[in-house]
Amino acid sequence: GNGARDRLRIAIQKSGRLAEPARALLTACGLSWRESRDRLFCYGESLPVDLLLVRDDDIPGLIRDGVCDLGVVGRNVLLEQDIALKAGGGSEAFREWRPLGFGGCRLAIAVPETWAWQSQAQLAGTRLATSYPAILRQWLDGQGIAAEVVELSGSVEIAPRLGQADAICDLVSSGATLAANQLKPVMTLLESEAVLAGPSSATSGASGLDQATPRQPAFDGIWDDA
Ligand code: ATP
Ligand code: ZN
Repeated sequence: GNGARDRLRIAIQKSGRLAEPARALLTACGLSWRESRDRLFCYGESLPVDLLLVRDDDIPGLIRDGVCDLGVVGRNVLLEQDIALKAGGGSEAFREWRPLGFGGCRLAIAVPETWAWQSQAQLAGTRLATSYPAILRQWLDGQGIAAEVVELSGSVEIAPRLGQADAICDLVSSGATLAANQLKPVMTLLESEAVLAGPSSATSGASGLDQATPRQPAFDGIWDDA
């Protein structure tokens, strides 16, 4: 929880694909900030809402630890860390509160263009490179496919050409990066976009922002014409 802190703290990506749209969204909500010299912390001026500018991968952990109340992060990152946490015996520590409508992409299996693709059964016995080992492992297990997961932190799309893997599981938006590496997407594991993330139980974090309590119309009769 946020203890005695009486200001809301939101973690967003410092630089990268979600950085500008996240700030634009919060600015459109009427928020403005004074930036610290190191550009890691933005002090809210119009409202008591501060920003922490971090790597996207750090956002779920900052929510879990109560350092931040909310975060803007890709569903892909949130799900990967959630599965990994639970696989390690942890309990749910953060969850998606709502989708935000930007940063759209999908996590997909891609194979060399030269493969004649028929079904996912062809993945049995292959090595799959990914930065999303927990999501991929869960999907493979669910499909009953025995394949090797090769975890790479970046440049996943060149792994087949380097001989590190036979195929990959990576984020795709336009597909241009895959095509440039002679790969083609064949299966979608996850449709992703930027989401507002918060603690799994609203009481442990941002008070008053409980998504589980739906807003009621102010007047019962307001929908009578419908
Ligand atoms: P950081 O330095 O914060 O760790 P990063 O390199 O991990 O940055 P970005 O490449 O900026 O992250 O991507 C952030 C998020 O943008 C992804 O996790 C994903 O949700 C979303 N995204 C949308 N389209 C794409 C895409 N084509 N490739 C990768 N990510 C995408
Ligand atoms: Zn990252």
